[in-house]
Amino acid sequence: MSKPEWTKSKFESFIKGLLRKGTTRWPQKYEVLNAAKRGKQVNQETGRVAEHYQCAECFGVFPAKLVVVDHIEPVVPLTGFVSWDDVISRMFCGTDGLQVLCKSCHAVKTKAENAERRLNKKSKQ
Ligand SMILES: [Zn+2]
Repeated sequence: MSKPEWTKSKFESFIKGLLRKGTTRWPQKYEVLNAAKRGKQVNQETGRVAEHYQCAECFGVFPAKLVVVDHIEPVVPLTGFVSWDDVISRMFCGTDGLQVLCKSCHAVKTKAENAERRLNKKSKQ
């Protein structure tokens, strides 16, 4: 079978997705998550007692399902893709490059980053 006829950007997202999956086995991620632990509390949604984590942005405390470990510096720079070496070293960074965010703070950050990315792309053309 020949290679799929994907665009360059589709192929890049495919590889990025695989690398991102690999971060579930990146120990630094769990170190950051552990440091954000604020103890067991009743999960407002399920009524069960569960570990809660503090968001580095709004300082709210949330169950595991509502937080993500975020790359402080985006994995692909806002000014655009540099190289896979760059993506890999940004993806698998030290604990100082990672933070715990609640899903709503993460969504706000991602939205702002994507807006900046679009602006950068436009100014390059
Ligand atoms: Zn938050």
